[in-house]
Amino acid sequence: RKGNVIITGASSGLGLATAKALADTGKWHVIMACRDFLKAQRAAKSAGIGKENFTVMHLDLSSLDSVRQFVDNFKRSGKPLDVLVCNAAVYQPTAKEPSFTADGFELSIGTNHLGHFLLSRLLLDDLKSSDYPSKRLIIVGSITGNTNTLAGNVPPKANLGDLRGMAGGLSGTNSSVMIDGGEFDGAKAYKDSKVCNMLTMQEFHRRYHEETGITFASLYPGCIATTGLFREHIPLFRLLFPPFQKYITKGYVSEEESGKRLAQVVGEPSLTKSGVYWSWNKTSASFENQLSEEASDVEKARKLWEVSEKLVGLA
Ligand code: NDP
Repeated sequence: RKGNVIITGASSGLGLATAKALADTGKWHVIMACRDFLKAQRAAKSAGIGKENFTVMHLDLSSLDSVRQFVDNFKRSGKPLDVLVCNAAVYQPTAKEPSFTADGFELSIGTNHLGHFLLSRLLLDDLKSSDYPSKRLIIVGSITGNTNTLAGNVPPKANLGDLRGMAGGLSGTNSSVMIDGGEFDGAKAYKDSKVCNMLTMQEFHRRYHEETGITFASLYPGCIATTGLFREHIPLFRLLFPPFQKYITKGYVSEEESGKRLAQVVGEPSLTKSGVYWSWNKTSASFENQLSEEASDVEKARKLWEVSEKLVGLA
């Protein structure tokens, strides 16, 4: 049978390119888990994804109710789940004020981390019971959360601190809106959310890999400077960022190439190692990359897991 893969945020950028790459192999049925049903349908059509190779299902990660509803709907569909890809993200680098999810969490952490945390937890049993040869849970990370890299050292740097803001609910006053309890900063909130994604992947690995046989992985697909991620950035940035990445840092990858990379992490038989953060070198060969000190901090991962459980109502 075909493999079934859920990809969140498959209506544009990396998610859409991955859906296309997987559908084109003829071996995958892609469940595009998207907040805008019509946009996703149109995106799949214009990318040339065959009708028989995808299904769009509604999911708004900025609402825990919507996450639960999505999981119910998916379970009712009776489809087995072989791979889950947590890909969707919001990035608000120019926001002066925080915005909030339906449950009152700061939007970037609430969507990119907490929505995906609940989704993965609720779908873990489905992955566990899949009879597919290699079942996987993939959470897209980023270089920007890794302060052991040049890109990760551009201020404001990611830093979860002692998680006091998160323990305070990431809501209400400015002092508890960021994970570390600092003042709101949209660019930092995004980077922090990516650290959460990478820590969560490793904590899943430690807690569940042996018992379930699921491969847990994260990745940095390269700088896909043309995606919708940068939609809220100032126009001059959006104009100069792609050539800057192409010719100066040489970190640029096309959406198509990034989709092929994530598709490898989904289905390549050689990439079954669990607990790994994948990256690609200049010749587009994959390698196991090193995470920053904070993004591989075992104690922080455990604490983040516990606080997140409380916030999403699992504890
Ligand atoms: P895009 O903005 O193109 O794609 C983001 C996707 O997330 C869109 O489909 C968007 O939906 C979806 N999304 C946003 N909010 C929600 C929500 N509340 N519920 C459901 N879906 C939502 O950006 P990218 O493709 O660049 O980003 C994809 C991933 O790649 C992210 O995890 C990002 O951190 C990561 N990444 C990107 C890099 C880059 O250079 N672009 C580099 C490293 C990592 P909609 O279409 O409706 O807006």
